[in-house]
Amino acid sequence: MAAIRNLPVDGQRLWDDLMRLAEITDPDMPYTRRSFSPRFLEGRSWLAKRFQDAGLKVSIDPAGNLIGRLTGSDANAKTIVIGSHSDTVPSGGRFDGAAGVIAALEIVRAMRESGFKPAHSIEVIDFLAEEPSEYGLSCVGSRGLSGKLSDEMKSYNNAGGERLDQAIARVGGNAAVLDGPMRDDIAAFFELHIEQGIVLEQSGMDIGIVSGIAGITRLEIVFSGSADHAGTTPMHLRRDASVAAAEVISAIAREARRIAARGEGHFVATTGVIEVSPNAANVVPREVRMIVDARSENRQTMEAFVRFVDASTLQIAQEARVERTRFVRLSDTMPVACDERLRALLNESAQTLGFATMPLASGAGHDAAFMAQLAPAAMVFIPCKDGKSHTPEEWAEPEAIAAGAAVILAAVQRFDADGRS
Ligand SMILES: [Zn+2]
Repeated sequence: MAAIRNLPVDGQRLWDDLMRLAEITDPDMPYTRRSFSPRFLEGRSWLAKRFQDAGLKVSIDPAGNLIGRLTGSDANAKTIVIGSHSDTVPSGGRFDGAAGVIAALEIVRAMRESGFKPAHSIEVIDFLAEEPSEYGLSCVGSRGLSGKLSDEMKSYNNAGGERLDQAIARVGGNAAVLDGPMRDDIAAFFELHIEQGIVLEQSGMDIGIVSGIAGITRLEIVFSGSADHAGTTPMHLRRDASVAAAEVISAIAREARRIAARGEGHFVATTGVIEVSPNAANVVPREVRMIVDARSENRQTMEAFVRFVDASTLQIAQEARVERTRFVRLSDTMPVACDERLRALLNESAQTLGFATMPLASGAGHDAAFMAQLAPAAMVFIPCKDGKSHTPEEWAEPEAIAAGAAVILAAVQRFDADGRS
């Protein structure tokens, strides 16, 4: 980590605001600001006030995103957007999302105080409900903005029977008008986020320039055999579904390691759900249901992996004398590449400021993946302690957050100057 130095942002003010926002939490389970909840709205009204204090014009767009806007000097120039999300998972951390929102605010404050007058308008956005919400959907605000919030999604209910479109209206949006991409005036999108992994920390790097956001494919596999007595059924007559499942788990891990070692970008695969029926010590397992979560920066790699799992599960089922009764993609999202030009600007800015950088893929989803549908998008990752996130132990050093904010500020200024010339 580079030593604390004079940066073009006020790292202390950024930190103080972040800690102040963290205090707005459900008191019995820090740190919790669930999207759409009264606590979330309390956080947002505090944010709106901070945006106003910074001289930004505050509004809420139809997708329920909180926006603070600084009008640029060139009426013909498009808008540069910087943002992330202020909602959290239950018992989450103080940094995931919030660091990106407060950094964006600090970037605009620092810009104004230095007398820098951007040609482009600059917007700070707090995207609505990035984390999985009570309505069964994540990235609600960035989906809505980019035209990816379907009518079906708008009708999702929470446990209390409230529809998502009603909830969006409750926080100041209007889901009825969300139909297709909502903005054509965005020139660039930047997001600062904690890495949520250990790569930067372990390699001693200050800044990760995100190469792309992995696509996520989830496969559901069911093996069906025969539930027989565990004491009386000879081994050679068994049709044990768990034997097939065990083989598949090993095969998937081996294949994922092989793909990752090829160095063609981020690839990981996990068998995180294994349900055995009847799940009794004295019964040969009749059925196993598994869910495999695979993430790849590269769509061809993902397709090849899915073909591998398809073929190997059939073969393993045959060898174990069970049947593969289900093989489906439960969900399937495309990888998103970050914009080359913005990545170069971020990298140059970081080098100029004296920070060590490395390219890094995001294995987690982010609002930037949806914003990339509307405009060139890029992300800066900063190290977080032990890679921990979605837990109260989540931690990023004040200097690391300030460094990330300074890099984006410098990149925004370079982008703004380029656009004007
Ligand atoms: Zn996040």
